[in-house]
Amino acid sequence: MFEPLLLAAHNPGPMTGSGNNTYLLASRGGSTTLIDAGVGEPQHLSELAMAIGDARLDFVFVTHGHRDHAAGAPALAVAHPTASFSKHPWPGEDAHYDVPWRSLGDGDMVRAGDATLQTLHTPGHSPDHLAFWHEPTRTIFTGDLVTLGSSVMIHWSRGGDLGQYLASLERLLALDPRRLLPAHGPTIDDPRAILTGYLEHRRQRERQVLDALRAGRATVQAIAESIYDGLAPALMTAAQENVRAHLEKLKSERRAADEHGRWTL
Ligand SMILES: [Zn+2]
Repeated sequence: MFEPLLLAAHNPGPMTGSGNNTYLLASRGGSTTLIDAGVGEPQHLSELAMAIGDARLDFVFVTHGHRDHAAGAPALAVAHPTASFSKHPWPGEDAHYDVPWRSLGDGDMVRAGDATLQTLHTPGHSPDHLAFWHEPTRTIFTGDLVTLGSSVMIHWSRGGDLGQYLASLERLLALDPRRLLPAHGPTIDDPRAILTGYLEHRRQRERQVLDALRAGRATVQAIAESIYDGLAPALMTAAQENVRAHLEKLKSERRAADEHGRWTL
């Protein structure tokens, strides 16, 4: 039986939507594993404690080092001294969350409850991003690679890389998954349609960025304002990061150039 239990991290906000999902996997022998740490909200901790009951929390696997996924690690370490914490290293960032991190690489096989999961290094949204693949049920814990109803932000100035992100989506697609369990939003039961939709959305954005450059818009801000017209100010910084990620991808493909923050084709 493979039934990950969704535990809400109770951290709603402009960048997290209704808040993060964490997933608990239990074994018959009383060992549990949590995927993503949340932020240490008391309600998350108490619902986790209730779900674990008499069992132990042995492993916490963190999909990536963004705050909403990793910041809860120290609080979990206090509440669950048996737990170890693992993620793919992100030098300079992991130290913000003061637990002894164990290192996961690509293709590692890890125990989670009664299941075995394979780690997939899937950078792009962040350099350290991992997804977790359960082959028998064709389920992937997808972290921040996919979120229904909103677009995934690529923070270029914080290690995001659009080219890598698209390659990571292609990698998920190639596994032919049946179900995606994202860190934000509802479960995805039609992965192929969603993943191909995401890839098409990025191709469309790229066309918009190219059109804006062609129209003489030369700064990240001007391009973002032309594409994301009417976006809430709280999200405009993230939108500019997305535009920058597209521009940097085009630059690496020699399809755009920049000089002192002025971009041209
Ligand atoms: Zn993230």
